[in-house]
Amino acid sequence: MITDTHTHLYAEQFDEDRNEMITRAKEAGVSRFFIPAIDSSYTDSMLALEHNYPNDVFLMMGLHPTSVKENYKEELAHVKNWINKRNFYAIGEIGIDLYWDKTFLKQQQEAFRTQIQWAKEKKLPIVIHCRDAFDEIFEVLENEKGDDLFGIFHCFTGDLKQAKRAIAYNMKLGIGGVATFKNGKIDKFLNEIDIKHIVLETDSPYLAPTPYRGKRNESSYITQVIGKLVDIYGLSFEEISEITTQNSKDIFNV
Ligand SMILES: [Zn+2]
Repeated sequence: MITDTHTHLYAEQFDEDRNEMITRAKEAGVSRFFIPAIDSSYTDSMLALEHNYPNDVFLMMGLHPTSVKENYKEELAHVKNWINKRNFYAIGEIGIDLYWDKTFLKQQQEAFRTQIQWAKEKKLPIVIHCRDAFDEIFEVLENEKGDDLFGIFHCFTGDLKQAKRAIAYNMKLGIGGVATFKNGKIDKFLNEIDIKHIVLETDSPYLAPTPYRGKRNESSYITQVIGKLVDIYGLSFEEISEITTQNSKDIFNV
């Protein structure tokens, strides 16, 4: 059993062949799909996805940092409204992204902090999006750390020191296509991180692993990531799948 802890199955890139794509993933052994939110414009398609795949799909709710703009307070109210209305499996993806735009850094920090506090109230994990913002993310986590703070550092791209720091904040490292890239760097030190801290993800339709790099990513390609971890940890394909699925159960409680 393989768990994709981060896939945007509702993305418009899959509108032409979503069912076939999900069938391919299931045939490859992926049976659990965790679905991060972005902003209110995707909520309807996420709910439709859950309706069509009630046994396979697990929804998160949250406001993505690149969607923190002038209207971020309304967007946060949308998140709050939904998490009070029904169950979600995590608050995500949330965090800070300074790669595209630094204009809303203050608002991104506030939205991140606020959503962490909601996750704690609901006893939910957080799923962190971090791009060019390790210092800013760690600053918030340092203030919020505790037994009630836990989750996943999605698409982890830091160094060994940053990996250890993330783990110290009760975060698992989300490992996906980047681990298969020639210049991805994380494959160089991953063997120093106990596999109990690792979960698998694709972030599809983004970040396709080698040999699909640059193309549309899909959940079935997670097998390429497992293949890389087989080399790194010297464990079998089945062992990597089972251990990382168990790690995802420890986080999402399902
Ligand atoms: Zn994502």
